[in-house]
Amino acid sequence: MAEKIIIIKNIGSIINIEKDNRRLMSKVSGEASGNPDTLDNAFLVVENNIIAGFGEMAEMGSVISQYETCDIEYTDAGGGLLLPSFCDSHTHLVFPYSREREFEYRLNGLTYEEISAKGGGILNSAKAMDSISDEEILEASFKRINGIIATGTGTVEIKSGYGLTLEKELRLLRIIRKLAELSPVTVRSTFLGAHAIPAEYKSDPERYISIVTEEMMPLVAEEGLAQYADVFCEKGFFSREQSERIFDAAIRFGLRPRIHANQLSDCGAIDCAVSKGCISADHLEVLDAERIAQLASSDVIATLLPGCAFFMDSDFPKAKDLISAGATVAIASDYNPGTSPSGDMLFMMALGCIKMKMTPLQALMASTINGAAALELSHRKGSIAIGKDADFFITKKIPSLAYIPYSYTENPIERVFLKGKEIRTNNI
Ligand SMILES: [Zn+2]
Repeated sequence: MAEKIIIIKNIGSIINIEKDNRRLMSKVSGEASGNPDTLDNAFLVVENNIIAGFGEMAEMGSVISQYETCDIEYTDAGGGLLLPSFCDSHTHLVFPYSREREFEYRLNGLTYEEISAKGGGILNSAKAMDSISDEEILEASFKRINGIIATGTGTVEIKSGYGLTLEKELRLLRIIRKLAELSPVTVRSTFLGAHAIPAEYKSDPERYISIVTEEMMPLVAEEGLAQYADVFCEKGFFSREQSERIFDAAIRFGLRPRIHANQLSDCGAIDCAVSKGCISADHLEVLDAERIAQLASSDVIATLLPGCAFFMDSDFPKAKDLISAGATVAIASDYNPGTSPSGDMLFMMALGCIKMKMTPLQALMASTINGAAALELSHRKGSIAIGKDADFFITKKIPSLAYIPYSYTENPIERVFLKGKEIRTNNI
Protein backbone atom coordinates (compact mmCIF):
# COMPACT_ATOMS: atom_id res chain seq x y z
CA MET A 1 0.00 0.00 0.00
CA ALA A 2 1.19 3.51 -0.80
CA GLU A 3 2.51 5.41 2.14
CA LYS A 4 0.33 8.14 3.62
CA ILE A 5 1.89 11.57 3.49
CA ILE A 6 0.40 14.76 4.88
CA ILE A 7 1.56 18.06 3.44
CA ILE A 8 0.65 21.25 5.25
CA LYS A 9 0.96 24.13 2.80
CA ASN A 10 0.62 27.91 2.96
CA ILE A 11 1.97 28.22 6.48
CA GLY A 12 2.53 31.90 7.36
CA SER A 13 5.48 31.02 9.65
CA ILE A 14 6.80 27.97 11.41
CA ILE A 15 8.25 29.21 14.70
CA ASN A 16 10.76 27.20 16.74
CA ILE A 17 11.98 25.14 13.82
CA GLU A 18 15.35 23.37 13.69
CA LYS A 19 16.68 23.61 10.16
CA ASP A 20 19.85 21.60 10.74
CA ASN A 21 18.75 18.28 12.13
CA ARG A 22 22.33 17.14 12.72
CA ARG A 23 22.55 19.54 15.66
CA LEU A 24 19.22 19.38 17.46
CA MET A 25 18.64 21.38 20.64
CA SER A 26 18.15 19.51 23.85
CA LYS A 27 17.11 22.70 25.69
CA VAL A 28 17.79 26.43 25.49
CA SER A 29 19.29 28.44 28.32
CA GLY A 30 19.76 32.12 29.09
CA GLU A 31 19.29 34.79 26.46
CA ALA A 32 19.52 32.20 23.64
CA SER A 33 16.01 31.14 24.59
CA GLY A 34 14.64 34.24 22.86
CA ASN A 35 16.14 33.41 19.45
CA PRO A 36 14.56 30.32 17.92
CA ASP A 37 14.66 29.83 14.18
CA THR A 38 11.62 30.54 12.05
CA LEU A 39 10.64 29.75 8.47
CA ASP A 40 8.18 31.98 6.60
CA ASN A 41 5.85 31.06 3.70
CA ALA A 42 6.44 27.42 4.39
CA PHE A 43 5.19 23.90 3.90
CA LEU A 44 5.69 20.88 6.16
CA VAL A 45 5.71 17.16 5.33
CA VAL A 46 4.51 14.48 7.75
CA GLU A 47 5.29 10.86 7.02
CA ASN A 48 4.36 7.97 9.33
CA ASN A 49 3.46 10.37 12.17
CA ILE A 50 6.90 11.96 12.04
CA ILE A 51 8.02 15.31 10.66
CA ALA A 52 9.76 14.35 7.41
CA GLY A 53 10.53 17.66 5.74
CA PHE A 54 9.79 21.34 5.34
CA GLY A 55 10.76 24.22 3.13
CA GLU A 56 9.59 27.44 1.54
CA MET A 57 6.45 27.29 -0.59
CA ALA A 58 8.52 28.10 -3.71
CA GLU A 59 10.37 24.79 -3.27
CA MET A 60 7.32 22.65 -2.62
CA GLY A 61 6.97 21.26 -6.15
CA SER A 62 10.41 19.71 -6.23
CA VAL A 63 10.00 18.17 -2.76
CA ILE A 64 6.60 16.68 -3.58
CA SER A 65 8.02 14.91 -6.64
CA GLN A 66 9.81 12.53 -4.21
CA TYR A 67 6.44 11.35 -3.00
CA GLU A 68 4.94 10.53 -6.43
CA THR A 69 3.95 7.01 -5.48
CA CYS A 70 2.49 8.02 -2.13
CA ASP A 71 -1.01 8.87 -1.09
CA ILE A 72 -0.72 12.59 -0.32
CA GLU A 73 -3.25 14.49 1.76
CA TYR A 74 -2.98 18.26 1.60
CA THR A 75 -3.91 20.65 4.37
CA ASP A 76 -3.99 24.38 3.71
CA ALA A 77 -2.83 26.40 6.72
CA GLY A 78 -4.30 29.56 5.21
CA GLY A 79 -1.35 31.68 6.25
CA GLY A 80 -1.63 30.75 9.95
CA LEU A 81 1.32 30.06 12.23
CA LEU A 82 2.50 26.52 12.84
CA LEU A 83 3.96 25.94 16.31
CA PRO A 84 5.19 22.81 18.08
CA SER A 85 2.68 21.55 20.64
CA PHE A 86 3.21 22.68 24.21
CA CYS A 87 4.95 20.34 26.64
CA ASP A 88 3.32 20.99 30.02
CA SER A 89 5.83 19.49 32.43
CA HIS A 90 3.97 19.98 35.73
CA THR A 91 0.32 19.13 36.35
CA HIS A 92 -1.90 17.38 38.86
CA LEU A 93 -4.75 17.01 36.40
CA VAL A 94 -6.03 13.67 37.65
CA PHE A 95 -8.00 14.71 40.73
CA PRO A 96 -11.37 13.74 42.16
CA TYR A 97 -13.36 17.01 42.30
CA SER A 98 -13.02 20.70 41.49
CA ARG A 99 -12.66 22.93 44.56
CA GLU A 100 -14.41 26.17 43.68
CA ARG A 101 -16.05 26.27 47.11
CA GLU A 102 -12.61 26.81 48.68
CA PHE A 103 -12.08 29.65 46.24
CA GLU A 104 -15.33 31.18 47.42
CA TYR A 105 -14.38 30.68 51.07
CA ARG A 106 -11.10 32.45 50.39
CA LEU A 107 -12.98 35.37 48.82
CA ASN A 108 -15.18 35.49 51.90
CA GLY A 109 -12.09 35.99 54.04
CA LEU A 110 -11.72 32.54 55.59
CA THR A 111 -8.21 31.52 56.68
CA TYR A 112 -6.37 28.48 55.32
CA GLU A 113 -7.09 26.61 58.59
CA GLU A 114 -10.80 27.45 58.44
CA ILE A 115 -10.94 26.30 54.82
CA SER A 116 -9.18 23.04 55.70
CA ALA A 117 -11.66 22.45 58.51
CA LYS A 118 -14.53 22.91 56.05
CA GLY A 119 -13.10 20.34 53.66
CA GLY A 120 -10.39 22.02 51.59
CA GLY A 121 -6.77 21.33 50.76
CA ILE A 122 -4.75 18.38 49.50
CA LEU A 123 -5.76 16.15 52.41
CA ASN A 124 -9.42 16.65 51.62
CA SER A 125 -8.88 15.87 47.94
CA ALA A 126 -7.30 12.63 49.18
CA LYS A 127 -10.36 11.93 51.35
CA ALA A 128 -12.65 12.57 48.35
CA MET A 129 -10.98 9.65 46.55
CA ASP A 130 -13.12 7.36 48.73
CA SER A 131 -16.41 8.63 47.31
CA ILE A 132 -15.61 8.53 43.61
CA SER A 133 -15.08 5.63 41.23
CA ASP A 134 -12.08 5.16 38.96
CA GLU A 135 -14.41 5.53 35.95
CA GLU A 136 -15.66 8.88 37.20
CA ILE A 137 -12.12 10.19 37.77
CA LEU A 138 -11.07 8.90 34.35
CA GLU A 139 -14.00 10.56 32.63
CA ALA A 140 -13.40 13.91 34.35
CA SER A 141 -9.68 13.71 33.54
CA PHE A 142 -10.46 12.97 29.90
CA LYS A 143 -12.48 16.16 29.69
CA ARG A 144 -9.52 18.07 31.10
CA ILE A 145 -7.21 16.42 28.57
CA ASN A 146 -9.55 17.45 25.74
CA GLY A 147 -9.47 20.97 27.10
CA ILE A 148 -5.68 21.15 27.11
CA ILE A 149 -5.46 19.66 23.60
CA ALA A 150 -7.70 22.47 22.40
CA THR A 151 -5.30 25.00 23.89
CA GLY A 152 -2.25 23.48 22.24
CA THR A 153 -0.78 20.92 24.64
CA GLY A 154 0.61 17.74 23.13
CA THR A 155 2.69 16.36 26.00
CA VAL A 156 1.72 16.49 29.64
CA GLU A 157 3.22 15.36 32.92
CA ILE A 158 0.69 14.19 35.52
CA LYS A 159 1.41 13.59 39.21
CA SER A 160 -0.30 11.37 41.74
CA GLY A 161 -0.44 12.81 45.26
CA TYR A 162 -4.18 12.94 46.00
CA GLY A 163 -4.12 9.40 47.34
CA LEU A 164 -1.55 9.43 50.16
CA THR A 165 -2.20 5.76 50.94
CA LEU A 166 -0.64 2.86 49.10
CA GLU A 167 -3.92 1.77 47.57
CA LYS A 168 -5.07 5.25 46.51
CA GLU A 169 -1.70 6.33 45.10
CA LEU A 170 -1.63 3.18 42.97
CA ARG A 171 -5.23 3.84 41.87
CA LEU A 172 -4.27 7.33 40.70
CA LEU A 173 -1.16 6.14 38.87
CA ARG A 174 -3.14 3.42 37.11
CA ILE A 175 -5.72 6.01 36.02
CA ILE A 176 -2.86 8.15 34.67
CA ARG A 177 -1.58 5.11 32.77
CA LYS A 178 -5.06 4.51 31.33
CA LEU A 179 -5.23 8.13 30.18
CA ALA A 180 -1.83 7.70 28.56
CA GLU A 181 -3.10 4.64 26.69
CA LEU A 182 -6.40 6.12 25.57
CA SER A 183 -5.64 9.74 24.81
CA PRO A 184 -3.71 11.19 21.88
CA VAL A 185 -1.44 13.28 24.13
CA THR A 186 1.90 11.94 25.31
CA VAL A 187 1.81 11.46 29.08
CA ARG A 188 4.69 11.28 31.57
CA SER A 189 3.81 10.10 35.05
CA THR A 190 5.18 11.20 38.41
CA PHE A 191 4.75 9.54 41.79
CA LEU A 192 3.99 12.25 44.36
CA GLY A 193 3.24 10.21 47.47
CA ALA A 194 5.19 12.94 49.31
CA HIS A 195 2.61 15.64 48.49
CA ALA A 196 1.48 16.16 52.09
CA ILE A 197 1.66 14.34 55.40
CA PRO A 198 -1.71 12.69 56.14
CA ALA A 199 -3.34 13.84 59.40
CA GLU A 200 -2.84 10.45 61.08
CA TYR A 201 0.95 10.78 60.66
CA LYS A 202 1.28 14.43 61.71
CA SER A 203 2.96 13.40 64.95
CA ASP A 204 5.09 10.76 63.23
CA PRO A 205 6.00 11.98 59.74
CA GLU A 206 8.94 9.54 59.61
CA ARG A 207 6.46 6.69 59.61
CA TYR A 208 4.69 8.16 56.58
CA ILE A 209 8.01 8.70 54.79
CA SER A 210 8.89 5.07 55.33
CA ILE A 211 5.51 4.07 53.87
CA VAL A 212 6.30 6.21 50.81
CA THR A 213 9.80 4.82 50.34
CA GLU A 214 9.41 1.24 51.54
CA GLU A 215 5.81 0.35 50.68
CA MET A 216 4.65 2.61 47.85
CA MET A 217 7.82 3.09 45.78
CA PRO A 218 8.64 -0.61 45.32
CA LEU A 219 5.17 -1.26 43.89
CA VAL A 220 5.17 1.89 41.75
CA ALA A 221 8.50 0.78 40.29
CA GLU A 222 7.49 -2.87 39.92
CA GLU A 223 4.36 -1.96 37.94
CA GLY A 224 6.26 0.67 35.94
CA LEU A 225 3.65 3.25 36.92
CA ALA A 226 5.87 6.34 36.96
CA GLN A 227 9.05 7.74 35.44
CA TYR A 228 9.60 10.33 38.18
CA ALA A 229 9.26 10.90 41.92
CA ASP A 230 8.38 14.33 43.28
CA VAL A 231 8.36 15.83 46.79
CA PHE A 232 6.61 18.94 48.10
CA CYS A 233 9.63 20.38 49.91
CA GLU A 234 8.19 23.13 52.09
CA LYS A 235 7.74 24.15 55.73
CA GLY A 236 4.95 22.03 57.20
CA PHE A 237 5.32 19.45 54.44
CA PHE A 238 8.72 17.78 53.78
CA SER A 239 12.06 19.23 54.90
CA ARG A 240 15.19 19.27 52.76
CA GLU A 241 16.62 16.36 54.70
CA GLN A 242 13.42 14.32 54.39
CA SER A 243 13.18 15.15 50.68
CA GLU A 244 16.74 13.94 50.15
CA ARG A 245 15.99 10.64 51.82
CA ILE A 246 12.87 10.18 49.70
CA PHE A 247 14.91 10.90 46.56
CA ASP A 248 17.67 8.47 47.60
CA ALA A 249 15.01 5.76 47.66
CA ALA A 250 13.48 7.00 44.38
CA ILE A 251 16.84 6.79 42.62
CA ARG A 252 17.28 3.22 43.88
CA PHE A 253 13.92 2.36 42.30
CA GLY A 254 14.79 4.04 39.00
CA LEU A 255 12.50 7.04 39.51
CA ARG A 256 14.23 10.28 38.55
CA PRO A 257 13.65 13.10 41.06
CA ARG A 258 11.87 16.40 40.44
CA ILE A 259 10.88 18.76 43.22
CA HIS A 260 8.32 21.37 44.35
CA ALA A 261 10.77 24.06 45.49
CA ASN A 262 10.62 27.53 47.06
CA GLN A 263 6.91 28.14 46.59
CA LEU A 264 6.30 29.69 50.01
CA SER A 265 9.75 29.70 51.63
CA ASP A 266 13.38 28.80 51.04
CA CYS A 267 14.00 25.70 53.08
CA GLY A 268 16.89 24.26 51.07
CA ALA A 269 14.90 22.65 48.26
CA ILE A 270 17.32 23.95 45.62
CA ASP A 271 20.33 22.48 47.47
CA CYS A 272 18.38 19.23 47.47
CA ALA A 273 17.56 19.56 43.74
CA VAL A 274 21.21 20.12 42.85
CA SER A 275 22.65 17.44 45.13
CA LYS A 276 20.15 14.76 44.07
CA GLY A 277 20.21 15.57 40.34
CA CYS A 278 16.57 16.63 40.03
CA ILE A 279 15.59 17.11 36.41
CA SER A 280 13.63 20.20 37.44
CA ALA A 281 12.88 22.45 40.41
CA ASP A 282 9.35 23.75 40.11
CA HIS A 283 7.54 26.88 41.48
CA LEU A 284 10.47 29.11 42.63
CA GLU A 285 8.35 32.06 43.76
CA VAL A 286 10.81 32.71 46.62
CA LEU A 287 14.21 33.16 45.02
CA ASP A 288 17.13 35.49 45.85
CA ALA A 289 20.14 36.30 43.66
CA GLU A 290 22.24 33.57 45.23
CA ARG A 291 19.64 30.90 44.50
CA ILE A 292 19.23 32.20 40.95
CA ALA A 293 23.00 31.86 40.41
CA GLN A 294 22.92 28.37 41.94
CA LEU A 295 20.18 27.25 39.55
CA ALA A 296 21.88 28.90 36.56
CA SER A 297 25.12 27.04 37.20
CA SER A 298 23.35 23.67 37.54
CA ASP A 299 21.60 21.33 35.10
CA VAL A 300 18.31 21.71 36.99
CA ILE A 301 15.54 23.18 34.83
CA ALA A 302 13.80 26.10 36.54
CA THR A 303 10.12 25.37 35.96
CA LEU A 304 7.83 28.33 36.60
CA LEU A 305 4.11 27.96 37.23
CA PRO A 306 2.54 31.35 36.59
CA GLY A 307 -1.04 30.02 36.75
CA CYS A 308 -0.57 29.32 40.44
CA ALA A 309 0.83 32.78 41.25
CA PHE A 310 -2.05 34.30 39.25
CA PHE A 311 -4.81 32.30 40.92
CA MET A 312 -3.36 32.69 44.43
CA ASP A 313 -2.57 36.36 43.75
CA SER A 314 0.99 35.88 44.96
CA ASP A 315 4.39 37.02 43.69
CA PHE A 316 5.41 35.71 40.29
CA PRO A 317 8.77 33.97 39.86
CA LYS A 318 11.60 36.11 38.50
CA ALA A 319 11.83 34.68 35.01
CA LYS A 320 13.87 37.55 33.58
CA ASP A 321 16.54 37.30 36.29
CA LEU A 322 16.78 33.54 35.79
CA ILE A 323 17.17 34.00 32.03
CA SER A 324 19.79 36.77 32.40
CA ALA A 325 21.74 34.54 34.79
CA GLY A 326 21.78 31.81 32.13
CA ALA A 327 19.27 29.37 33.66
CA THR A 328 17.07 27.02 31.63
CA VAL A 329 13.51 28.19 32.22
CA ALA A 330 10.37 26.15 31.52
CA ILE A 331 6.75 27.24 31.93
CA ALA A 332 4.13 24.73 33.08
CA SER A 333 0.50 25.05 34.17
CA ASP A 334 0.47 23.27 37.58
CA TYR A 335 -3.14 22.33 36.61
CA ASN A 336 -4.69 21.35 39.95
CA PRO A 337 -8.00 21.95 41.72
CA GLY A 338 -6.67 24.01 44.64
CA THR A 339 -4.16 26.56 43.36
CA SER A 340 -4.18 26.53 39.53
CA PRO A 341 -7.45 25.28 38.06
CA SER A 342 -6.39 25.71 34.43
CA GLY A 343 -4.16 23.78 32.07
CA ASP A 344 -4.35 26.40 29.33
CA MET A 345 -0.77 26.85 28.13
CA LEU A 346 -1.76 29.74 25.85
CA PHE A 347 -2.74 31.59 29.00
CA MET A 348 0.41 30.45 30.84
CA MET A 349 2.45 31.89 27.96
CA ALA A 350 0.50 35.14 28.24
CA LEU A 351 1.22 35.26 31.99
CA GLY A 352 4.88 34.59 31.19
CA CYS A 353 4.84 37.76 29.08
CA ILE A 354 2.44 39.98 31.03
CA LYS A 355 3.45 39.11 34.59
CA MET A 356 6.98 37.71 34.25
CA LYS A 357 8.08 40.09 31.44
CA MET A 358 9.34 37.35 29.15
CA THR A 359 9.35 38.02 25.42
CA PRO A 360 6.79 35.99 23.41
CA LEU A 361 9.65 33.91 21.96
CA GLN A 362 11.12 33.22 25.41
CA ALA A 363 7.68 32.20 26.67
CA LEU A 364 7.22 29.92 23.65
CA MET A 365 10.58 28.21 24.15
CA ALA A 366 9.88 27.79 27.88
CA SER A 367 6.56 26.14 27.02
CA THR A 368 7.87 23.87 24.26
CA ILE A 369 11.51 22.73 24.06
CA ASN A 370 12.34 23.39 27.71
CA GLY A 371 9.14 21.69 28.86
CA ALA A 372 10.14 18.73 26.68
CA ALA A 373 13.62 18.78 28.24
CA ALA A 374 12.06 18.74 31.72
CA LEU A 375 10.36 15.49 30.66
CA GLU A 376 13.50 14.13 28.95
CA LEU A 377 11.65 14.16 25.63
CA SER A 378 13.40 16.91 23.70
CA HIS A 379 14.74 14.38 21.19
CA ARG A 380 11.11 13.75 20.14
CA LYS A 381 9.13 16.82 21.16
CA GLY A 382 9.29 20.56 21.69
CA SER A 383 10.32 21.89 18.26
CA ILE A 384 9.66 21.36 14.58
CA ALA A 385 12.53 19.19 13.37
CA ILE A 386 12.95 16.32 10.93
CA GLY A 387 12.58 13.02 12.76
CA LYS A 388 10.57 14.43 15.66
CA ASP A 389 6.96 13.44 16.40
CA ALA A 390 4.48 15.42 14.31
CA ASP A 391 2.95 17.24 17.30
CA PHE A 392 1.94 20.77 16.32
CA PHE A 393 -0.92 23.19 15.94
CA ILE A 394 -1.94 25.68 13.30
CA THR A 395 -3.44 29.03 14.23
CA LYS A 396 -5.84 31.12 12.24
CA LYS A 397 -4.11 33.87 10.30
CA ILE A 398 -2.71 36.16 13.00
CA PRO A 399 -0.17 38.96 12.59
CA SER A 400 2.65 37.41 14.65
CA LEU A 401 3.49 35.21 17.63
CA ALA A 402 3.15 38.24 19.92
CA TYR A 403 -0.54 38.36 19.03
CA ILE A 404 -1.09 35.18 21.10
CA PRO A 405 -0.11 36.56 24.54
CA TYR A 406 -1.38 40.02 23.54
CA SER A 407 -4.85 38.71 22.74
CA TYR A 408 -4.84 36.63 25.88
CA THR A 409 -8.49 35.61 26.09
CA GLU A 410 -8.66 34.46 22.49
CA ASN A 411 -7.80 30.92 21.41
CA PRO A 412 -6.27 31.32 17.93
CA ILE A 413 -5.77 27.55 17.40
CA GLU A 414 -7.67 26.14 14.43
CA ARG A 415 -6.17 22.71 13.92
CA VAL A 416 -4.23 20.33 16.13
CA PHE A 417 -2.05 17.42 14.99
CA LEU A 418 -0.66 14.93 17.48
CA LYS A 419 1.65 12.13 16.33
CA GLY A 420 0.69 13.09 12.79
CA LYS A 421 -3.07 12.73 13.22
CA GLU A 422 -5.51 15.59 13.23
CA ILE A 423 -7.35 15.72 16.55
CA ARG A 424 -10.85 17.02 16.83
CA THR A 425 -12.08 18.01 20.27
CA ASN A 426 -15.32 19.68 21.22
CA ASN A 427 -13.47 22.84 22.05
CA ILE A 428 -11.98 23.32 18.59
ZN1 LIG B 1 2.43 21.18 41.76
